[in-house]
Amino acid sequence: MNKPFYITTPLYYVNARPHIGHAYTTILCDTFARFHRFLGEEVFFMTGTDEHGTKIDQAAKAQGKEAKLYVDEMVPVFKKLWDIIGIRYDHFIRTTDPSHQEIVQTILKRLESKRDIYKGNYKGWYCTPCESFWTQLQLAGGKCPDCRRDVQELCEENYFFKLSNYQLWLVDYIGKHPGFVLPKTRQNEILTFLEQPLEDLCITRPRSRLSWGISYPESPEYVVYVWFDALINYVSGIEYSLATQKFSSFWPADVHMVGKDILRQHAVYWPIMLKALDIEMPQTVLAHGWWTIEGSKVSKSRGNTVDPFEIVNRYGVDALRYYLLHEVKLGFDGSYSEDLLVERFNSDLANDLGNLVLRATSMLDRYFKGKIPSTAGQDHSPLKKKVSEMLEIVRNQMRDFQPEGAIDAIWSVVREANRFVEQKKPWVLARERQQDELGNVLIELLETVRLLGVILFPFLPMSSRKILQLFGMKDDPTVKEFKWGTLKPNTQIDKGEPLFPKVE
Ligand SMILES: [Zn+2]
Repeated sequence: MNKPFYITTPLYYVNARPHIGHAYTTILCDTFARFHRFLGEEVFFMTGTDEHGTKIDQAAKAQGKEAKLYVDEMVPVFKKLWDIIGIRYDHFIRTTDPSHQEIVQTILKRLESKRDIYKGNYKGWYCTPCESFWTQLQLAGGKCPDCRRDVQELCEENYFFKLSNYQLWLVDYIGKHPGFVLPKTRQNEILTFLEQPLEDLCITRPRSRLSWGISYPESPEYVVYVWFDALINYVSGIEYSLATQKFSSFWPADVHMVGKDILRQHAVYWPIMLKALDIEMPQTVLAHGWWTIEGSKVSKSRGNTVDPFEIVNRYGVDALRYYLLHEVKLGFDGSYSEDLLVERFNSDLANDLGNLVLRATSMLDRYFKGKIPSTAGQDHSPLKKKVSEMLEIVRNQMRDFQPEGAIDAIWSVVREANRFVEQKKPWVLARERQQDELGNVLIELLETVRLLGVILFPFLPMSSRKILQLFGMKDDPTVKEFKWGTLKPNTQIDKGEPLFPKVE
């Protein structure tokens, strides 16, 4: 029995409503999770929310609310979006969950007993909006190098985690595991960063400055730094240290999907935390790019967000999923454009896929009253080969983390099937009463449509469902259903509604 496939999104910081960037990360993970379920594997897909820290405290205060009430109201907004866009996660973790907080404290005690944590003075510059400490050298013209805002000088006693103890080990580990940080360009970035001496990580904040966080064990005058707390979710969510089976059966994670802006936390801090705890490394930390609008990153602080709720309202879930999954190569930045989304909707979804499904089912309706004919069953299926090759290409592309390539492979079959209709001209065959040939053409076409419905399940689950319903298939498809030649004579197939009514 293989280890279950364990994939995670980062925990989303709930200081604002989810935007298109959150939707992108989560759709990517959902697609990989669905694909592995489709292959018949057990899957554990975890997402959740990061709920501590200064920015959340500030967001709550701005609304005149207690921090806990504020986060309790934000979490359902995220969950609702995931429901709307077809995200099927197995566990939703919140960093305010009591079990998470307990495990964070257990881990801190363990690291203390291993002398990986010490108390020291921290002198530096602090950027409150970014919750980042910076050294003098890191400042950009005296300002925060991330957001270019003013910083305040700080000197306080805090707990530190000895990242420096593990720097050489990490460089060596990354060098020996080329699949650990992907894509390769990001791996190089991390290795370059690691050429400089690694500073120890300050992992607490005095409660007098920030009260909204997990208490440091036995020193309640400190709260745990929000990143240190949040990263632990990947093991606390599967019950690390709770003496259950869950952790040993799911760990190590197969994929931690992250945005490229939080790669350092995931490819430097996190592996070192795991190493210090003697926990095995995850297989892959996979960094995707940013969606930009007119050249700048989509983010709350830049005020150029795209509301995924609105996009789904206007064009449907699968239009959003198709656009985000297909428009950029995973790892690269994309420039978000609603006009382009509409263009792809009309050409790829409505014209190519939608038309194919409608044509195939309406011709069966028109020429055979919607019933699969029995024919002489000649064995000359030009689409069959193309369809079975598609499965292998999709499998390889997904293994290489290239969902856009998988979608290209599927659409090459969609287009081939449309060309097949043009070449065979079923309407001419009908006029000339070549019933056997007409029947064969339609069966061939409908087999292709059905298998497209099967393979689309991880990518466009709503469309997949609608297509498969035409064939009387109600359950989630798996690779076992990906078999050519199972349409039985006399099966009734209704002419469906258009899958993607065109957008003006
Ligand atoms: Zn800043």
